[in-house]
Amino acid sequence: MPSIAGLRVIRSSIHGYGVIATRDFRADEVITEVDGILVDTEEPLDDRYVVWLVDDWYLDMLDQTRWINHSCEPNVWVDGGVREDGQPWAHVVALRDIRAGEELSYDYAFPAQFAERCFCGASQCRGWIVDPDELERAKAAAGNGSSGNVAGS
Ligand SMILES: [Zn+2]
Repeated sequence: MPSIAGLRVIRSSIHGYGVIATRDFRADEVITEVDGILVDTEEPLDDRYVVWLVDDWYLDMLDQTRWINHSCEPNVWVDGGVREDGQPWAHVVALRDIRAGEELSYDYAFPAQFAERCFCGASQCRGWIVDPDELERAKAAAGNGSSGNVAGS
């Protein structure tokens, strides 16, 4: 796997492995292209490593970008789509100025059926890794589920 200039995989304070910037990036700067394989929702997905592109199409990230963690207050976003020739494309783009040493994070914004509890630590944390528009659906689904452990926590 080729290593991406300006990025490094580290043991993260957010979750598992993460990715830090090894140089400064400016707001709106394209940090890197994402190498990946186009998959659709019919295939089994490890949702931590895929990013939504368009319709039912996701990009399974193959390079260091796959270790970028979720945050409810992210500093990057992933712009992407599918070209007319069927090839996927995606870029990691800075949402604000990023200093060398900062961990990168983007908002995974999962659809409600993939929602997971969030422990990102951001002051504005939604409590769930889910698209903000689907937060209420995710909470309702969790409330009806068998996963207890809510009272007293
Ligand atoms: Zn969060």
